[in-house]
Amino acid sequence: MNEILIKDLECFGYHGVLEEEKRLGQKFIVSVSLKLDFIKAIEHDLCQDTVDYGAVSQCIVDEVANTNFNLIESLADHLAKEILIRFALVEHVTVEIKKPWAPLKVHLDTVSVRVERGWHSSYIGVGSNMGDSKSIIEDAFQRITSLAYNKDVLLTNLITTKPYGYKEQNDFVNGAISLKTLLYPKELLHFLQAIELDLKRRREIHWGPRTIDLDILLYDNIVLQDEELIIPHPEMCKRDFVLKPLCELNPNIVHPLYHKRVCDLYQELQTSNTYEKTVE
Ligand code: ADP
Ligand code: MG
Repeated sequence: MNEILIKDLECFGYHGVLEEEKRLGQKFIVSVSLKLDFIKAIEHDLCQDTVDYGAVSQCIVDEVANTNFNLIESLADHLAKEILIRFALVEHVTVEIKKPWAPLKVHLDTVSVRVERGWHSSYIGVGSNMGDSKSIIEDAFQRITSLAYNKDVLLTNLITTKPYGYKEQNDFVNGAISLKTLLYPKELLHFLQAIELDLKRRREIHWGPRTIDLDILLYDNIVLQDEELIIPHPEMCKRDFVLKPLCELNPNIVHPLYHKRVCDLYQELQTSNTYEKTVE
């Protein structure tokens, strides 16, 4: 990955917790690192294959002038997201903001914050067995697509499957979604949970009927586990209704714990003696 650096861009804005800061405004010094691939630009020596750092600088000056945040943390994050959304070639951004006139009772050079954002590749498992499942899934897909922090959102064909675990319920409709997202894993989880809630998901029986279930299957190559979120999804390799749609999106996705492709994991599952078949 190549890098473009903008150092100490002088901006003026009305950010801060204090009333005086919001009214009088102050100077903010912004430095940005943009990670992108500009090999093609080098090859042809053409500016269309790289990012116009003048345009990025102007975007920063305008956003600092025209938004209002209490915290420079929030301002830095806003700038990082704006740059990633507006300049499609940029894959990763670091924004540092210095506040040279911070109203403090001590002497220091500057206070600054640094924020990082980038496009991440994620896969989401989708299931529904209540109501008009296909249109509920389509609705969830539209909501994921319409968030500016997501791009390149794709939905697989939807398949009808037998219930897994708890059998006394309707057949399911399953699929998977691939996307690029600026959201961190927990932010993505909360965004998906808000969609589930909005589409009136009920959580009465574990693995029981649901209008919509949106599970994060994979997020880059990360492995994480806490009380709220486990990635990769711990059940994904046991579920044909997850692996089959994943194979449709890309059979070569590699599971970061097993170091195997999803197509191989699907094949292994179908030949294992504990296989619970739900897909025709
Ligand atoms: P399930 O998807 O296992 O049928 P739920 O959708 O009701 O069950 O999820 C229960 C909890 O699982 C959620 O509250 C969430 O915090 C947690 N969870 C852990 N890892 C994940 C993940 N990768 N994707 C979605 N939810 C997860
Ligand atoms: Mg779930």
